[in-house]
Amino acid sequence: MNPHNQLNFSGGPGVLPACVLDEIQQAILEVPGTRLSLLGISHRSDWFASVITELEDNVRTLLGLGTDYHVLMLQGGATQQFSMVPMTLLRGQSKAAEYIQTGYWSSKPIIEARREGAVRVLWSGQESSFNRLPGDNELAFSEDARYLHYVSNETVEGLQFHRVLGRDDVPRVCDMSSDFLSRPCEAERFALIYAHAQKNIGPAGVTMVLMRDDLLDDANTDLPDFLNYRTQINTHSNFNTPPVFSIYVTLLVTRWLLHQVGGLARMDGINQQKAGKIYRFLDASDQFYRGRAAAADRSLMNAVFDLPSPELETRFLAESAEAGFSGLAGHRAIGGIRASIYNALSSTAVDQLLEFMAGFQRKNRH
Ligand SMILES: *Cc1c(COP(=O)(O)O)cnc(C)c1O
Repeated sequence: MNPHNQLNFSGGPGVLPACVLDEIQQAILEVPGTRLSLLGISHRSDWFASVITELEDNVRTLLGLGTDYHVLMLQGGATQQFSMVPMTLLRGQSKAAEYIQTGYWSSKPIIEARREGAVRVLWSGQESSFNRLPGDNELAFSEDARYLHYVSNETVEGLQFHRVLGRDDVPRVCDMSSDFLSRPCEAERFALIYAHAQKNIGPAGVTMVLMRDDLLDDANTDLPDFLNYRTQINTHSNFNTPPVFSIYVTLLVTRWLLHQVGGLARMDGINQQKAGKIYRFLDASDQFYRGRAAAADRSLMNAVFDLPSPELETRFLAESAEAGFSGLAGHRAIGGIRASIYNALSSTAVDQLLEFMAGFQRKNRH
């Protein structure tokens, strides 16, 4: 076991459970029961078909999702979904799609959607430098929108919606890349959820898409096969060679969530505790550590804060690295400090970070 990896506070790719890393190490040499290495096993094998089936089942069980939803494992990251969603749902339509611009990651899909059709930005936090989320009274959802798109957790700014947005008669599309399977999410209130694996549930290479079947009823089908959800559904996410490694690791993480953690309500409880400790610490630091996000919109996954000066931030990053922590630099777009505390980041690691932060403050208080 590598103790430093447990102190990986990176915004993504994120830390994975140590027991999963052990299993992968073994599977690189031989996947149990197959005599083959995970890196050279056929995506047309019975073994891989059973991996896909079990992963689909695990996600359904974790989220309480019915059989009218497809569970897809796609390539191209969340970024490809920024395009695939409007190519499918917006191209050739007269209705406009509604987007909410709450930060770095919700800004990009707006640009892609505009290539395909009419887009209405319902709310933008740009003027308030994305330090808060809109309240319901600021969001005028329209009944004739083609769909509503938003990001559940803004990874860069550390903002997270703690409710489901929108109307029940307009399909909800949500990018949950950085909080997928971190808490129960009322998945059936969404028509489409997408989330790449590499923040919370696996390595890069696979993106999970959950889609209610009727969403495709009057969708555009004049698309390249690879970019057509229907092709991916009909081939069980095995249209061309899928990322077998990433999908297998994601399966191991869902097993860990189900059997070790005990489900998403338990995971949520743990995540609330970890985040609660950090935010209470920031609030009690007498403005030495200043949280960026409005208190009500704070993310349970990414705590973003500033120090009193850029010099102190540089020193903080250098000394924290020396003490064994990694990934604490804020996103290159906005700077500052970001402690990402995804599912597999332990409560003990949070305690160690806070101990370091208390010591740093004592030494550097003016
Ligand atoms: C990191 C991130 C992305 C980018 O995903 P890629 O897989 O790199 O395309 C998109 N959305 C959110 C919310 C993210 O946190």
